[in-house]
Amino acid sequence: MFKNSLRTFSKVRFNSPPITYRRFNNNQGNSFRQLLFDATSRRYLAILFGGGSLFYLTHLEEAPVSGRTRFIWLPRWLELKVGEYSYRSIIGQTRGSILPPNHPLTQKVSRIFEKIVEAAEKDPTIDKNLITGVKWQVHIVDDPRAPPNAFVLPGGKVFVFSSILGICKNEDGLATVLSHEFSHQLARHTAENLSKAPIYSIIGAILYTVTGADVFNRLLLDGLLRMPASRQMETEADYIGLMIMSRACFHPEESVRLWQRMAEFEQQSKRPGMVNVEFLSTHPASNRRIENMESWLPKARELYSQSNCGGIGGYYDSFQSAFGVPSFEPKTIWGF
Ligand SMILES: [Zn+2]
Repeated sequence: MFKNSLRTFSKVRFNSPPITYRRFNNNQGNSFRQLLFDATSRRYLAILFGGGSLFYLTHLEEAPVSGRTRFIWLPRWLELKVGEYSYRSIIGQTRGSILPPNHPLTQKVSRIFEKIVEAAEKDPTIDKNLITGVKWQVHIVDDPRAPPNAFVLPGGKVFVFSSILGICKNEDGLATVLSHEFSHQLARHTAENLSKAPIYSIIGAILYTVTGADVFNRLLLDGLLRMPASRQMETEADYIGLMIMSRACFHPEESVRLWQRMAEFEQQSKRPGMVNVEFLSTHPASNRRIENMESWLPKARELYSQSNCGGIGGYYDSFQSAFGVPSFEPKTIWGF
């Protein structure tokens, strides 16, 4: 993906007739070239580049479960501060719609989430500080107008919108969504995104100095770096989530069915007049996701069978039938 895009970029940039972008006072490109001809500037650039590379290499670490190497410099305390700030802001926006902690639905979803957390604690490859040092808490946002969504903030605050529960359909489906969101935090994807932000800004500034075309550069950055990185993190959260939910004795096969239901929902929501579903639009194409899930099933089944899940068949009981909460199913416009 990245290679193909890079090839396209090379073609545009170097093989096509030079594209010039008109703008006022277009002399920054020349200044940048002059920088390269000046010995002192070149020395500074070399120090900057060397220092930057050293910083990058010394801040590479391995993601849990997937083993992917990624760059994170953001300290944990700052990541938690960002989580705290977001939490306060979201609580302010959703106040009045959040079900109380003793509501049966909050308790039910919390219990499923707890099973996922407990299973992750048993995984020897996961740094336990990322789980035990966090105060996990589930909030159900019961707002029928809100599109289906679920997310977790750094610091362990989980938000589940009641409109997603009908698509989840049962506990295994909900475990798929919860373990996916949990995995984003476990793999510190927020910290990874924030760590990359200054790099994108620097690359953006350099591109702007060279080409002077802001919109073109933004498209390049998004196409070559931001979007592939975001899709990679989504796929990683799918993989880690599937492994953890299987350890937690939730049926991994249901994750495939859940994403099939999501795909159907996605199709319906594309109809004119339907609300754009952010949860889906920021995630990879459902078909690709279903293929991935299917290819990971053998490994997931292995973990499931190693977890002595034996007689626990009750998890598969219909989630909807267990609760008569009116807002549990998406309203009729969703067709579920
Ligand atoms: Zn996600």
